Amino acid sequence: MIQLKNKTELERMKKACQISAQALKVAGENIRVGMTTQELDRILHHFIVSQGAKPSFLGYGGFPGTACISVNNEVIHGIPSSERVLREGDIVSVDVGACIDGFHGDNAFTFPVGQISQEAQKLLDVTQKSLYLGIEAAQAGHRVGDIGAAVQALVEENGFAVVRQYVGHGVGHDLHEDPEIPNFGRAGHGVRLVPGMTIAIEPMVNQIGEGVRVLDNDWTVVTKSGSMSAHFEHTIAITEQGPVILTTP
Ligand code: MG
Repeated sequence: MIQLKNKTELERMKKACQISAQALKVAGENIRVGMTTQELDRILHHFIVSQGAKPSFLGYGGFPGTACISVNNEVIHGIPSSERVLREGDIVSVDVGACIDGFHGDNAFTFPVGQISQEAQKLLDVTQKSLYLGIEAAQAGHRVGDIGAAVQALVEENGFAVVRQYVGHGVGHDLHEDPEIPNFGRAGHGVRLVPGMTIAIEPMVNQIGEGVRVLDNDWTVVTKSGSMSAHFEHTIAITEQGPVILTTP
């Protein structure tokens, strides 16, 4: 069931989204060569708690971290680890959410670690741009397929592949609500977008091939090809006046 939010609820939800966005900003300010993904996770945990919020992902389905931190060929759901050291040339996807006043925010960003290759930079640029094209397509009256089609078109034009096994989602009272928001699809198809819907759009883009698999830890999703993968996400609200990005610091 899709849970529409009224104006008051949207205002309340904004706070959770702002803290989520600030947490990503904190991540960007702290990422450096030589740090472990667990150190980064601790910084984010400290930040979210200092804002009076709760990390949305911690304990969700048993997830052990505050953030999902996925490096290079890891697509999503990377578990923060004291053994994973960030190295020059890595790309690191940080997916983090905060819960306060009964609402969740959810957002993700893939950061370069030091100097990265041109090909990696292109992957980041295309994935981020595809997110914004998806958001632009999220107009009241359009359909969910319009979002996916916009994301997919740009990604494939650039020779990359959209992950199909994992998708975006409604978000609000719960971290994952209806409807699903795939990053692929046919324009004009799927659920109609109406004012009051709050959704997380989150393209996951592989350099080579859409295939993914889950590691033995039952969480970390990696590319089948071993190629790098990027992930950008915003929580947005559908309004009469157009899509509004809620996850801004
Ligand atoms: Mg999400």
